Amino acid sequence: MDFRIGHGYDVHALSEGLPLILGGVEIPHSHGLVAHSDGDVAIHAICDALLGAAALGDIGMHFPDTSVDFKGIDSKILLQRVASLLREKGYEIGNIDCTIRLQRPKLRPHIDRMRETLAKAMSIKTDQVSVKATTTEHLGFEGREEGVSVSAVALIFRP
Ligand code: MG
Repeated sequence: MDFRIGHGYDVHALSEGLPLILGGVEIPHSHGLVAHSDGDVAIHAICDALLGAAALGDIGMHFPDTSVDFKGIDSKILLQRVASLLREKGYEIGNIDCTIRLQRPKLRPHIDRMRETLAKAMSIKTDQVSVKATTTEHLGFEGREEGVSVSAVALIFRP
């Protein structure tokens, strides 16, 4: 069995009045993420972890933010495409773990829906997807509520 791991990291800025979409789920909040796509920083980090594991470049290479095709795109579509690309190369997804760093709002009530949504987009089981959230104790850009960062790891394998 050919096991591989990958890491992904992404940051987006918060701005008032935009929708906050994390892990494919819209979360009620006064601020949302600024981006060319829907700004789903969690999905972007997961895409990069998957692409990294397969050494297939990064999300910016596959879905350039200069392309009108991806303007405002639902990031779940990007994740579906990355999962399909990996399968075309003979890989299966083992598991995903990610950590969302933001000060507010509390994500606990939304975590299970994010896991289900992400798993569905990748065509894997919910128990293969872990989503965690942490504040940064008011430190740094996340703590000042200027932005949200996410790191993700993915294990993939060729049976
Ligand atoms: Mg991004």
